[in-house]
Amino acid sequence: MTLDQPRTYQVVTYGCQMNVHDSERISGLLDGAGYLPAAEHEAADVVVFNTCAVRENADNRLYGNLGHLAPVKAGKPGMQIAVGGCMAQKDRDTILRKAPWVDVVFGTHNVGSLPRLLERARVAEEAQIEILESLERFPSTLPTRRDSAYAAWVAISVGCNNTCTFCIVPALRGKETDRRPGDVLGEIEMLVAEGVQEVTLLGQNVNTYGVEFGDRTAFAKLLRATGEIEGLRRVRFTSPHPANFTDDVIAAMAETPNVMPSLHMPLQSGSDAVLRAMKRSYRARGFLGIIDKVRAAMPHAAITTDIIVGFPGETEEDFQATLDVVAAARFSAAFTFQYSIRPGTPAATMPDQVPRAVVQERYERLVELVGDISWRENQALVGQRVEVMFADGEGRKDAATNRMSGRARDNRLVHVAVPDDPAARPRPGDLAEVELTYAAPHHLNADGGLLSLTRTRGGDAWAARHAPAPEGPRPVGLGLPSRA
Ligand code: SF4
Repeated sequence: MTLDQPRTYQVVTYGCQMNVHDSERISGLLDGAGYLPAAEHEAADVVVFNTCAVRENADNRLYGNLGHLAPVKAGKPGMQIAVGGCMAQKDRDTILRKAPWVDVVFGTHNVGSLPRLLERARVAEEAQIEILESLERFPSTLPTRRDSAYAAWVAISVGCNNTCTFCIVPALRGKETDRRPGDVLGEIEMLVAEGVQEVTLLGQNVNTYGVEFGDRTAFAKLLRATGEIEGLRRVRFTSPHPANFTDDVIAAMAETPNVMPSLHMPLQSGSDAVLRAMKRSYRARGFLGIIDKVRAAMPHAAITTDIIVGFPGETEEDFQATLDVVAAARFSAAFTFQYSIRPGTPAATMPDQVPRAVVQERYERLVELVGDISWRENQALVGQRVEVMFADGEGRKDAATNRMSGRARDNRLVHVAVPDDPAARPRPGDLAEVELTYAAPHHLNADGGLLSLTRTRGGDAWAARHAPAPEGPRPVGLGLPSRA
């Protein structure tokens, strides 16, 4: 490679939506600094790992991947490796001790410095570490390369003021910082002008949005304000915290037509004793009370949740309380997790860690109950007509079944029979009305095909982005998926 050839990059992302969105910013920054995204199977000149400290075995996976890259780097002069995200914030110089071939370690508050750090490492021929303890400017001011042409994440806050004992976020992402509503709305308007028609507002706890600038009703106002944006068809948000869920948010959801009737609200446990140990300040009754109000205002809302099984000290009685809340709440889906020790969290050193086998057995009972309920909830929808927005990735036509997939307004996954003629098929981002003909626990089918199809600006944006590029020779790949 000569010096005047642009350098290429690949970003490998682990973990949550916040990380996926940060990776879009990392890509945008590198684009802005003159790097080019590496072709799918190309060995990139710069590989960036955007890491997660939450998932089990996160460190094994990171160090495994770094080990895999060491010989590749040794055979590719000028190649650089950067590690960012929560593991970088947590492990800092340990990363360089364990993997001295890494060139840059940057913290969760230092995304904006990455191009400068890469350049400095290259010139000085020395690894660079930059970890700030708090955010100096909101990362939304950084450029972004979005994964999707028609849907976008929009961060409204970063960090969290809660202290849930199983969570590493407060230690690694710092106190909540809220972005001003005008900035958020300005970004959404700009995205809509580019063809985006669905946004998901992102924050660790969206219900406390505004606490930093002294407006407790800011989140409800923000939802209502998104309803004024012409061309914005769907608004979602994640995640709300049950302790801060107020009636004004429910009213704003119900009264703003482009705010979707779907709610993902983490329960974590149905036992008040476990919630207390988790330092989650709501109780099971309060949680179910919010669900009742949401259903009263939006009878067709789909409600999903997160549940941790086997938190330290969880008894059979506690677990039964979780099953009771799950049965009463009728979740349309639940993301279930077996508790595992996350170093650096208060729960990691709590007594009464539940034996693995017990956690496994409870987990299986929970998964069965959740599956039964979501199946029944889906079966009740068969025969109904719904609007589906076809999705990127999951929206590609499946050659074996002749179906394409998308999301209903309530965020349920729907597989839709589509015409054989490519010109008559929807594109990701297009909308169709379909009739639901079959229900499985985790998806629905619409085998009667498209009752009506709306070609959207989002679909146009998708088509423009995916216009076929001229084929060139493909270099040998690294074998790293971009989402780990
Ligand atoms: S609300 Fe609790 S679980 Fe969520 S980010 Fe904050 S501390 Fe973590």
